Amino acid sequence: MADRYLRFTGTAPGRFLTRRLGLPQPEPLRRWSPEHPALPGPLLHLTAGKSGLDLAPVLARTGLTAGTGSPAAVVLDATEVRDVGALAEVHAALHPVVRSVAGSGRVVVLGAPLDADDHHQAAAQQALEGFTRSLGKEIGRGRTVNLVRLTDPAAAESTLRFLLSPKSAYVSGQVIEVGPAAPDADAPAVGALGVAVDPDRPLAGRTALVTGAARGIGEAVAETLARDGARVVVLDVPQAEADARRVAERLGGTALALDITAADAGRRMAEALPDGLDVLVHNAGVTRDRRLVNMPAERWSPVLEVNLASVLRSTDELLAAGTLKRGGRIVATASIAGIAGNAGQTNYGASKAGVVGLVRSLAPRALAEHGVTVNAVAPGFIETRMTAAVPLFIREAGRRMNSLAQGGLPADVAETTAWLAHPASGAVNGQVVRVCGQSLLGA
Ligand code: NAD
Repeated sequence: MADRYLRFTGTAPGRFLTRRLGLPQPEPLRRWSPEHPALPGPLLHLTAGKSGLDLAPVLARTGLTAGTGSPAAVVLDATEVRDVGALAEVHAALHPVVRSVAGSGRVVVLGAPLDADDHHQAAAQQALEGFTRSLGKEIGRGRTVNLVRLTDPAAAESTLRFLLSPKSAYVSGQVIEVGPAAPDADAPAVGALGVAVDPDRPLAGRTALVTGAARGIGEAVAETLARDGARVVVLDVPQAEADARRVAERLGGTALALDITAADAGRRMAEALPDGLDVLVHNAGVTRDRRLVNMPAERWSPVLEVNLASVLRSTDELLAAGTLKRGGRIVATASIAGIAGNAGQTNYGASKAGVVGLVRSLAPRALAEHGVTVNAVAPGFIETRMTAAVPLFIREAGRRMNSLAQGGLPADVAETTAWLAHPASGAVNGQVVRVCGQSLLGA
């Protein structure tokens, strides 16, 4: 699984040779660790034209300082860009500073929702999307570029903190919409004992169920949610029970041996959660790759059943049973294969596109009726057993064909999930966030 090319380009001869040959130059990404919880260096706050947004209080809480020197992050407020002429301000603001942004640094562009009654504003705001994605592709050195459409900076605080931290190392080229604060969607900031949410353990006192958590991405998700204070339920198939128990024991949680395709899976999940559930992560997934011409129904059905049908069924049952509490979070797992399509994966691509449909349709209703948000993560090439089994040439292509020229780690998907699960992320709903280093697939 080791990315030897990334290691090679980290040596002086490796760098020399690969540069001469015009090969990709991946930079080791700076990821979150307890020793390095924030990006090192100052935050530069720029505005395109005038803006009425008061971002200062939110930006002050990102852990980044306002000092001088090479910025670790740049936030460009472009929310008041209302016509094509004003786009010149975007260029004027970023052109002089983009070179100085530190390696593994962040550029976050803030935009406004598109105005259905003003096509000039909509054109200018949509232009920010093309701008962000293009800059993401050219900026290099492990730096990321994302666009957040917002109206209320306070509602977007958890999102900005995530994007401006090492936790979002493999998230680039994304457009994230943050709605206005929804009264029911933010999980109570004060726990049952009257203790305020601890910023280092925001999920303390909350329960999270992660499917397929005996290994791979699911295990990393369980680990990260436990780090954030959640009591985790590690669900996996009965055949993987020993591994699920090991993970649960390590994280101080419990294991649940259950095949999610079982007809009574939703009921058994609810029974295992007598005190209710705050965070439901649909992570379990399978592949049975083959081109459609060679794909018998036996390879088609299990993929649709595990990745989509059982996700729909258990979601419906846990919502109907009231197991998911108000302020709850559902995070489903899509894939870039569900967005771009992938040869040999008609079954998998269909199932993962189905997850996107589920999220987009259910999100507004689940929020209105249950106070629960519904979002998806869409991983790209992540270094797991699943991708280690991919033939070498395709694996190398998967690793390099993204703006960061490397694969992601399970922790990258886990951190994205933890941001969506955060008690203060109630205004993030119906989003499909790719964790793919801005893969060229489906870009
Ligand atoms: P993995 O195969 O390493 O782990 C999947 C886990 O799900 C396993 O522990 C498995 O036992 C469990 N599982 C499978 N069927 C189950 C069922 N019926 N009931 C309960 N548990 C079941 O896979 P991974 O790479 O960690 O992927 C996790 C998720 O991320 C999947 O949904 C996958 O489709 C998605 N994904 C992964 C990648 C990647 O690059 N690895 C890319 C895109 C999307």
